[in-house]
Amino acid sequence: MTNAMELYQMLPKTNCKKCGKTSCMAFAVSLMAHELTPEDCPPLKDEPKYKENYEKISELFKPSESATETGLIVHEDLCFGCGNCVVACPPNVANDPHGIGSGKAPTNPNKLVLAVEDGIVKAQNLGECRRFGKNKILCNGCIVTCPVEAIEFV
Ligand code: SF4
Ligand code: SF4
Ligand code: SF4
Repeated sequence: MTNAMELYQMLPKTNCKKCGKTSCMAFAVSLMAHELTPEDCPPLKDEPKYKENYEKISELFKPSESATETGLIVHEDLCFGCGNCVVACPPNVANDPHGIGSGKAPTNPNKLVLAVEDGIVKAQNLGECRRFGKNKILCNGCIVTCPVEAIEFV
C-alpha cells in the first residue's frame, strides 16, 4: 500500500487547513488512520488540477471502506485467488470445519471472513475477523500466508 509521505506527495501541499487539519501532512496521517477520507480535502476534491491525484487516492482507500474496524485491505489487483489466506484464517476454519477446515470448498459461506470469488479473494463478515472490535488481537494468518502481499492491515 502506501504511506503518509506518499499520500502527502499527492495532496495540494498548501496547508490551507480546509480539511480541519493543521497541514497536508497531518491530513495524510489522518487518511492513513481512516479518520478522514479523500473527500475531506476540498481543494483535492473540487479543483480540476488535482483530479488525477484525487482519483488515485480515492482508489487507494476504496477497498478499505468496509474494513475500517479491522483495517484489512485486499489489493484485488495483486490477488490471484490461490486461497491460502482463506484456509489459514482461524475464524474461517472455526466457522466452516467441514469445508475450509478440511481444505475443501466452503460449506458455510455466510460466516467466512475471506472467500475466493471469481478468482479474487473478498473480505466479508468482517465482524468475524479477529482484528475486529474491542477484543481484537493482532491476528495475521491471512497476511503471512499470502505469497504476493495482497492483504494488508493499515
Ligand atoms: S484541505 Fe487539503 S490542501 Fe488544505 S490542508 Fe487539508 S489536505 Fe492540505
Ligand atoms: S486477520 Fe486473522 S481473522 Fe482476520 S481475516 Fe486475517 S486470518 Fe482471518
Ligand atoms: S489474498 Fe493472497 S493468499 Fe489470499 S487468495 Fe489472494 S493471493 Fe491467495
